[in-house]
Amino acid sequence: MSTVAWEFEPGDYFRGKKALVTGAAGFLGSHLVDKLLAAGCRVVGVDNLSTGNLANLRAALKNPLFSFIKADVTENLVLEEDFDFIFHLASPASPVDYRRLSIETMLVNGLGTKNLLDLALESQAVFLLASTSEVYGNPLVHPQPESYWGNVNPIGPRACYDESKRFAEALTMEYHRRYGCDVRIARIFNTYGPRMRLNDGRVVPNFISQALRGEPLTVYGNGRQTRSFVYVADEIEGLLRLAAAPHAAGEVVNLGNPEEKSILEFAQLVARLVGVECVIEYKELPPDDPTRRCPDISKAQKLLGWQPKTPLEEGLRATIAFFKQELRLPGEENKD
Ligand code: NAD
Ligand code: UDP
Repeated sequence: MSTVAWEFEPGDYFRGKKALVTGAAGFLGSHLVDKLLAAGCRVVGVDNLSTGNLANLRAALKNPLFSFIKADVTENLVLEEDFDFIFHLASPASPVDYRRLSIETMLVNGLGTKNLLDLALESQAVFLLASTSEVYGNPLVHPQPESYWGNVNPIGPRACYDESKRFAEALTMEYHRRYGCDVRIARIFNTYGPRMRLNDGRVVPNFISQALRGEPLTVYGNGRQTRSFVYVADEIEGLLRLAAAPHAAGEVVNLGNPEEKSILEFAQLVARLVGVECVIEYKELPPDDPTRRCPDISKAQKLLGWQPKTPLEEGLRATIAFFKQELRLPGEENKD
């Protein structure tokens, strides 16, 4: 299917508007904040800093269009202003984080989502939910279209994330049906780039930091499970398009990269780009780890004129440069 041409200029949609971004100090949230500010949008960022880092907002905090509130969105948020857009990104996202913060994850996606939907109703704001490819669980359909209902273990160790995101989606759609709230749901697939936390346990920071330290790369299981990786700049562009599209109210859209790679291939690629021999240490596969994951993005292409642009090697080089800086390795300026 061909891409629908949409000359999308963020300033046309966000300049002079006001946005609330939850999870603003996180990986995706902080990049979203920067893009909104660059488009001339006023932004209020909320974060409880449970997995985020204020350093991600270093540039934003110097911008007079930005203000930051340290708060937990599961608690009563008193914000005495209206918003045009609410981007609800707050939630642990790495499997290691959401195991450690399992009940907090369920609450931020349950109660937190309700609080923000109420705020969206009061403000008559566009509400965008950051959902996840994990709603498909261990999918039996490849690639996964939005119409697929998924294959999720409701009582397994990933359920705190998968099922709470499914609940968040259902609640979001009920606010749309019952109250006419203008909602949009992004099903985000594995996203990588600068500002990922070095020790968040996800495969991208693990492999890059291991390769940079000259350690073996830890592959869980036999490494034949697949993922598809999208670069953060592309993902943020997708989120902005989804929030801005005049014709996307009530829509759920996959935002990911349809280029599927096995984890073993991915390890070899990271090692090559870092310039080290690929030494693998095999470890146990975590329970319920999805075997294959790959988005069908034809809806995003048609509805939003969106598809990822950044080649994996190019995005990984930028990410490796960032992690070199984080590890204080010589030879890299912080380009982030
Ligand atoms: P992240 O952990 O870097 O950011 C999440 C942020 O939310 C953190 O700054 C954290 O402190 C904050 N937060 C958590 N609970 C909160 C609460 N109760 N109140 C206020 N703030 C809270 O993760 P990320 O990768 O930036 O993910 C952002 C969103 O995108 C999440 O909703 C995640 O589920 C979704 N997502 C991300 C990916 C990905 O590959 N990065 C994939 C699918 C979905
Ligand atoms: N993985 C791995 N080694 C690691 C970290 C993760 O082999 O050091 C695997 C993990 O089992 C999964 C894939 O890489 O199959 C992606 O894991 P990640 O935690 O990044 O995200 P997920 O897609 O599982 O949420």
